[in-house]
Amino acid sequence: MAKIRLATVWLDGCSGCHMSFLDMDERLIEIASKVEVVCSPYVDTKEFPENVDLAIVEGAVSSEEDLEKLLKIRKNSKMVLALGDCGVTGNVSAMRNLVGVEASLKCAYDELSDNNKGVRPSRETPKQLERVSAQHERVFIDCFLPGCPPPADAIYNILSSLIEGKEYDIFNHTRFGK
Ligand code: SF4
Repeated sequence: MAKIRLATVWLDGCSGCHMSFLDMDERLIEIASKVEVVCSPYVDTKEFPENVDLAIVEGAVSSEEDLEKLLKIRKNSKMVLALGDCGVTGNVSAMRNLVGVEASLKCAYDELSDNNKGVRPSRETPKQLERVSAQHERVFIDCFLPGCPPPADAIYNILSSLIEGKEYDIFNHTRFGK
């Protein structure tokens, strides 16, 4: 059987979902025998490739860069899985929507910064969108795995099922905020 071309990406998330993925521990060896990792922070790929079978995406869409990445992921992937509550609902990342971009930048760079107070990075950070969105608000998402982060068991079960083309019931393994 040909190996699944698998990509994992994070947008605006804390990387906790990717850490939970690693918590599959020895089951990673089994997964690795069935997939070819073509793009991931784990393998430090810089460009999202074409012809991806399954893209696993952590995080909400907060910046122009996130949106550009997600559109490319959708265009180049047969199936997209939103991994974790930030990707599924916006979650922690979307708390910025309560105050807006300017107030959050003011708090981070003008009020709470320990050095270079008042200096805002312009080239180093991507332009922020006015509103943080869940992934499905921007592109079609094939499947969702909630949890903050989703437990490793849930990631293993959904991944195994998707690889083998079987049905799965995520709520046996996770829930929002778990
Ligand atoms: S869902 Fe939770 S663990 Fe995952 S990126 Fe968001 S805050 Fe981090």
